[in-house]
Amino acid sequence: MSKCDQCNGFCCTREPFNSVRIEKREVVPLRKKGATVISLGYGVWEMPIGKTACIFSKNGRCSIYKKRPKACRDFDCAKSEAFQEFFKKHYPETYRKVFGK
Ligand code: SF4
Ligand code: SF4
Repeated sequence: MSKCDQCNGFCCTREPFNSVRIEKREVVPLRKKGATVISLGYGVWEMPIGKTACIFSKNGRCSIYKKRPKACRDFDCAKSEAFQEFFKKHYPETYRKVFGK
C-alpha cells in the first residue's frame, strides 16, 4: 500500500490547502472537466479546493491522476517541512501511519 493510500489523499482536501496553483495551459482543460479556476492576475491561476476537498478527489484518490495539475505532480509531502509540521500536529495518527514516526 502506498503512503498516499495510507492517508486517503489528505493533501487533496481543504485541511492543509485552500487551493492548487494552476499553469495557464491547464486552465481550459480543467474548466472543461468542471473545475473552477480563477485568475489572481499577473498570469497566476488557482483552483480553489472547495468546502471539503478538490472536486477531483474521489474516495481518497485523484480521478484525473494522469492529467493532474503540475503543482499536484510536483508536490511531495515528505519534502515540505511546513506540511509535515501541520500533518504531525493535527493528524498524528495518520502521520505515523504514512511516515512511521
Ligand atoms: S502526498 Fe502525502 S499527504 Fe498527499 S496523499 Fe500522498 S501521503 Fe498523503
Ligand atoms: S487534482 Fe487530483 S491530485 Fe490535485 S488536488 Fe485535486 S484530487 Fe488532488
